[in-house]
Amino acid sequence: MTTIFSKIIDKSIPADILYEDELALAFKDINPQAPIHFLVIPKKAIATINDIEEADKTLVGHLYWVAAKLAAEMGFAQDGYRAVMNCNEHGGQTVYHIHLHVLAGKALGWPPYQDKL
Ligand code: 5GP
Repeated sequence: MTTIFSKIIDKSIPADILYEDELALAFKDINPQAPIHFLVIPKKAIATINDIEEADKTLVGHLYWVAAKLAAEMGFAQDGYRAVMNCNEHGGQTVYHIHLHVLAGKALGWPPYQDKL
């Protein structure tokens, strides 16, 4: 499935890219939800967490490695941050190409939802 993120990967639409290697890309979120908010995505198109296959385990770990590398380089690793993936409708997923949200720059609220169980 082609998504807006495929177009960011192939550079047919612009993004504020923070990191790129052969497996992954990190870029600033267009609608930031924290003072620092970027996305780390695999170049391989995987629609949701549910579609991660056994052969993708190292790739998904690599996304966390990129997040931690950027956190260190950008200077917010020690203060802390959140690195999360949303899955499907109840998770709030809107782009069906897995992506790690990295949110930082302030103390983030927890739990992240307001409604009652
Ligand atoms: P989701 O809701 O799927 O977990 O997160 C999708 C994220 O992608 C949202 O935070 C949204 O702001 C971001 N996003 C959607 N389209 C674009 C785009 O064209 N460029 C960038 N940089 N971010 C986007």
